[in-house]
Amino acid sequence: MLERRLIAVHGVVQGVGFRPFVHRLAAASDLRGSVRNNAHGVLIDVEGMRTDIDEFCRSLSEDLPSLAEVQHVAIEHAAPQDYPDFRIVASDPRTRASVAATVPPDVATCPACLAELFDPLDRRFGHAFITCTDCGPRFSIVTGAPYDRERTTMSSFAMCAACRHEYDDPTNRRFHAEAIACRDCGPTLRAEGSPGARPVLASLTGDEALEHAAGVLRQGGIVAIKALGGFHLACDAAREDVVVRLRGRKHRPAKPFAMMVRDADAAALLCHISRDERELLESPARPIALLVRRDGAAIAGSVAPGQQLLGLMLPSTPLHHLLMARLDRPLIMTSGNRSDEPVAIDDGAARDALGDIADLFLTHDRVIAVRCDDSVTRFMLGEPRVIRRSRGYVPRTIAIHRGARQAVLALGGQLKNTVCMAHSGRAILSAHVGDLESAESRGAMRDAIAHVSRSAGVRPTAIAHDLHPDYASTRIADAMAGELGIEDRVVVQHHHAHVASCVAEHGVSGPVIGVAFDGAGLGTDGAIWGGEFLLVDGAQFTRCGHLSYVALPGGDAASRRPWRSAAAHLAHASLGGAPKLVARPAEVEQGEWSLVQQMLARDADMPRTSSVGRLFDAVASLTGVCHVSRYEGQAATALEAIADPRAAPRYTIALSDGEVWTADPAELIRWIVDDVHRGVGVAEVAGAFHLALCNLVVRGAERIREASGVGSIVLTGGVFMNAMLLELAADALARARFTVVAHRTVPCNDGGLSLGQAYVAACALEEEAVCA
Ligand code: ZN
Ligand code: ZN
Ligand code: FE
Repeated sequence: MLERRLIAVHGVVQGVGFRPFVHRLAAASDLRGSVRNNAHGVLIDVEGMRTDIDEFCRSLSEDLPSLAEVQHVAIEHAAPQDYPDFRIVASDPRTRASVAATVPPDVATCPACLAELFDPLDRRFGHAFITCTDCGPRFSIVTGAPYDRERTTMSSFAMCAACRHEYDDPTNRRFHAEAIACRDCGPTLRAEGSPGARPVLASLTGDEALEHAAGVLRQGGIVAIKALGGFHLACDAAREDVVVRLRGRKHRPAKPFAMMVRDADAAALLCHISRDERELLESPARPIALLVRRDGAAIAGSVAPGQQLLGLMLPSTPLHHLLMARLDRPLIMTSGNRSDEPVAIDDGAARDALGDIADLFLTHDRVIAVRCDDSVTRFMLGEPRVIRRSRGYVPRTIAIHRGARQAVLALGGQLKNTVCMAHSGRAILSAHVGDLESAESRGAMRDAIAHVSRSAGVRPTAIAHDLHPDYASTRIADAMAGELGIEDRVVVQHHHAHVASCVAEHGVSGPVIGVAFDGAGLGTDGAIWGGEFLLVDGAQFTRCGHLSYVALPGGDAASRRPWRSAAAHLAHASLGGAPKLVARPAEVEQGEWSLVQQMLARDADMPRTSSVGRLFDAVASLTGVCHVSRYEGQAATALEAIADPRAAPRYTIALSDGEVWTADPAELIRWIVDDVHRGVGVAEVAGAFHLALCNLVVRGAERIREASGVGSIVLTGGVFMNAMLLELAADALARARFTVVAHRTVPCNDGGLSLGQAYVAACALEEEAVCA
């Protein structure tokens, strides 16, 4: 019997070769009708025999193109039209989006395009903008929905006849590849000298530009390169003088630089790489992976001073492939920004920001529509885990099962900021914005807000933000609530948001034990929290226990000065009166040292903190590993790197009684001081410190389970970027029969806060609606 059905498919179905896939499927099943993109996804109008249509519907969610992701299918029956054939029809942009179609992330050059790129007989040989339906720019070039060439920054390039032919041919692998281009019709590379450079270089284009840039890099120059989601700064990673010059010009004294290497084999020369890590490096997202460096890795010492881990990535665009093939050496490939500012995306801004850093600009005339930094990942606990979620992952949505009716905009934290929009059961998390210290970063945050709102196709009806009144994100929340007349505001405590972020990512239902260890977040009692044991159920949380409060001399200033935390912990452990115990490190000025000692001695009015991050700082300083840190997390990273994973347990952290119990590190600090004085090795001490924290996690969790019966536990907060701690804790918890949940595609650090805030707000608004 002849039947007709209208099938609406939502998900990542545009720009991924979904329509040709449908076309092939329909042809194979002898069906007639059409397929088109609309603002929501893809609409299929199909008629034929019922059994054939049933088979067709089944195949639709199986055998998908590699980048497609079907989230929802709605089927309606309709009167047969007697269509003559099956065709792909033009998009219908008139429908206003309520749930916008999901644009895929940018995807690394696929093997088929790579083969053509290096095939001298191919018409796209050496073309820096080669792409197909399986690969190339997506997210970073999209200007509207549905995803079609007119609504990308490729719209200004008129296709040549040859490209048009491929684009229109359903059997061609570039059929409706929206970024299709070739040498005759696509974007053009351009090399330009820096405004300040002498002698001024006349601009070169195409292959000459590429050759010139490769030459400048070979000779030790610094080149700003326009990549997918922003500019990079590149230079030879093997030459100390070059890397030092980059550090000087970028005002970035110590923070490690990421590198690009030609392929996974080149990566294996610098780092130890497991099969899983190789897969991660080669995945279509092509993230930076943090990998354990080999002794004697042939790179300059200044690339990642004192680091056990190196950040490596493989080429993700044809331009990178062409450059790496010419140079075949590791290149520094770091964000094209001044320190702590957002990465530059347009040529003018790049020239302003990077003109006195780069010797040359290698750019092109395809506009970057959306800023998107490189993502950072680390293989931990048997899975790749995202530490910075940007290129290759954004804008994949996250299903959330609460509060679908509201459109909640969550504004994240102060550091590693991201923003998030939750609506109709899905959350869209923005790309990494960065620290909100500068006006430029706050501008980038505004861009990100506009982008997630546009992607969701809605205006926010509720705003969620952190409890801290001085976060720039909180102040922007104030301003936006006023501008948009939004009355629903949900204030979310920092560590509650960390736990909720992990709950939302994994779709966990019911209450969980949340262990949130991080540097700092304002607590409901006005103290700085950061070593928290919470019981979290949607919009509600109870603080069951925490690390004892210890002074934070100088507040935020203490976070870059681990020695201050050491002094505070010594005072807390009643060892402060023994100044000979710990001598003033050479890099600390006498005046500052005395001031802090005096503050602690008279127990001056100082902020108090339960931060595990600061405890890491204290231990790093007491063991002589790091007294002054030059970037966030330096001391904790160094302590992890030096820790012996096979160390024997030496310390415990005592738990108090009481409704809200505390875990007092005083005894631990006394033991560590004693061990250091007795000459116990730093590796041993640091390893045992990790074990003591794991032991604390297990005992704290057991207490909460006894009282509540809850057996699922979330490990969250920036401290859990520490692989050793995460793996030891997860292992010990599993042995104690807990169900352990850890972040995977959403960062455990403050980059994941906005998702947690959105989730808590969605739950709160849903509960409110039920009560009303
Ligand atoms: Zn391709
Ligand atoms: Zn062309
Ligand atoms: Fe945090």
